[in-house]
Amino acid sequence: MASNTHETDAETETDSEVVRVEAAVEQVLNGLQVGLPGATTTCAYCGRQLHDGDCITVYAYRKAGHHHWNCPRVYCRSCRNSDDGVPTPTLGTTEILATAFLGIMQVAAAQTTRLALTDVEVQSYSHPSDGSEG
Ligand SMILES: [Zn+2]
Repeated sequence: MASNTHETDAETETDSEVVRVEAAVEQVLNGLQVGLPGATTTCAYCGRQLHDGDCITVYAYRKAGHHHWNCPRVYCRSCRNSDDGVPTPTLGTTEILATAFLGIMQVAAAQTTRLALTDVEVQSYSHPSDGSEG
């Protein structure tokens, strides 16, 4: 069970906004469910099955004004370098690439298991003001 304590002793004195944002993102993404219900998901690049305990790279984004993170793509370890950085920064969207481990999350009510992100570490961060309008 993810117990998201909502404490951010942010170093308000430093202007390292990105670092603070990354830390917050890691907190939010830990426990985020990925893939469909079930104990496996697939690499978006090679299609390999990914299981509990696998080290993955995940692409996630959040639109400005939204709290919900979307996690459309995960990559297996061998594909993790196939996409360098955030491919096309999108204006108005916060995008990250992060490494994480897959963990099993029991969804008691639904009598099912979901894969969730654990040990999230942000590798690349794209600020909403980055990018072009296309
Ligand atoms: Zn792969």
